[in-house]
Amino acid sequence: MTAVAEVMDYDEVLERFDPVLGLEVHVELNTNTKMFCGCANVFGGEPNTHVCPVCLGMPGALPAVNGKAVESAMRIGLALNCEIAEWCRFARKNYFYPDMPKNFQTSQYDEPIAFNGYLDVELDDGSIFRVDIERAHMEEDTGKSLHVGGATGRIHGADYSLLDYNRAGVPLIEIVTKPLVGTGARAPEVARAYVAALRDLLRGLDVSDVRMDQGSLRCDANVSLMAKDATEFGTRTETKNVNSLRSVERAVRYEMTRHAAVLVGGGKIKQETRHFDESTATTRAGRTKETAEDYRYFPEPDLVPIAPSREWVAELKAGLPQPPWVRRKRLQEEWGLSDAELRDLVNADALDLVAATVDAGAKSDDARSWWVSYLSQQAKTLNKELAELPITPAQVARVSALVADGSLTNKLARAVVDGVLAGEGEPDAVVEARGLKVVSDDSALTAAVDEALAAQPDVAEKIRSGKVAAAGAIVGAVMKATKGSADAKRVRELIIERCS
Ligand code: ADP
Ligand code: MG
Ligand code: ZN
Repeated sequence: MTAVAEVMDYDEVLERFDPVLGLEVHVELNTNTKMFCGCANVFGGEPNTHVCPVCLGMPGALPAVNGKAVESAMRIGLALNCEIAEWCRFARKNYFYPDMPKNFQTSQYDEPIAFNGYLDVELDDGSIFRVDIERAHMEEDTGKSLHVGGATGRIHGADYSLLDYNRAGVPLIEIVTKPLVGTGARAPEVARAYVAALRDLLRGLDVSDVRMDQGSLRCDANVSLMAKDATEFGTRTETKNVNSLRSVERAVRYEMTRHAAVLVGGGKIKQETRHFDESTATTRAGRTKETAEDYRYFPEPDLVPIAPSREWVAELKAGLPQPPWVRRKRLQEEWGLSDAELRDLVNADALDLVAATVDAGAKSDDARSWWVSYLSQQAKTLNKELAELPITPAQVARVSALVADGSLTNKLARAVVDGVLAGEGEPDAVVEARGLKVVSDDSALTAAVDEALAAQPDVAEKIRSGKVAAAGAIVGAVMKATKGSADAKRVRELIIERCS
């Protein structure tokens, strides 16, 4: 057992140190085929069914670059305000890993396709932090190892390991920031907001499904601390493959408090990779970090250099979609939202979901209310991102339509949503299976109304004497008695009828 590391109180960290951040984001492209071969690029599938001699690294197999992946890389670079290389190459990054059958990763090294850009990131309070981008380069993903046996799912203590090469050779873009200084207390927030903004941008470009939970967007968070009087950056650690926005924020924060405790205790930070543990919100040491020399990079001899014409670059630039923040302004106007309402929506990560729900036919207020309140609560309970909930915007729109046409009360609608979330199928199937129909059958309702009137004779008397407003109490009682399944409008009509 490794001992739990000491950490320093966050406020004290900030009194003594300034954090420096560096974020590396890997994005799996959604091209039809892999980076250097014609194998299908799909998530999952039976192990080792999307493989061929090229992505299995068989002797003599020759790669060819996926043009669509190059195009996506350039569009990403342009959207990040980068320069696009006039000429660049792939490089071999040499290392052994069982899930990488070639024993090198075809990547880019000192000649990335895109470099020197920036992304303006909006923070929770509406202020903008500019994240400078060092480069965006092309590479290929590795396969996956599955360690079987043992308690942790890690290689240590496992009985054996299985290898699936379906992911080997999937096109990846790695986007690397410059060291980010000046974030202060907001370092964790900047890290989260940057990854969120990048995800929105990539989603808008339609180059990736950007699913952190499925690994199509992965973030490595580098953190170091500088003492207040220091002139050089401190040693960084790199927390690998943090797989949710919340974890990005928590990992940065934790590393800051851990570094500070080590440094103040007279220790040194080791340059190493670390792994974030979701359940404890702490990190543990991984491997000691290689340096670039260790990888013996050299230009890939089997691939021709990439030299995109300036016309092509200009064309791609002209064809970029509206950036998400411009789109946000437009939706804000269309939906009539205040700045605060828009911010709530964005902070809840619900904007795209609401937009998709509106596209599927829901009113914007209804769509907003579903995602920002009930579904956000469910996401929190299930410890998931909103977008990871097993319900689609189309399904939310359907539930919303059933409420609008009186088939469901709000309460029943929530039960339908619960059913969808529980995997019981489409909303209509859940309504059917759980018997969640509004009771508007008069005989059942009349009985409930009479019972409620009898239980509250004073209220009944008021209504009879013309105080129609008093009917609310009876409606409430009937709704309670019918567990929310009564058609409230019809109940009110019946009350007035019975009392006149
Ligand atoms: P590696 O190959 O080790 O992952 P990269 O250059 O790909 O190196 O990424 C390192 C990231 O860390 C970059 O975002 C870089 O800006 C950032 N970085 C470099 N030095 C520091 C430091 N001292 N503290 C925090 N971040 C740093
Ligand atoms: Mg890196
Ligand atoms: Zn292949």
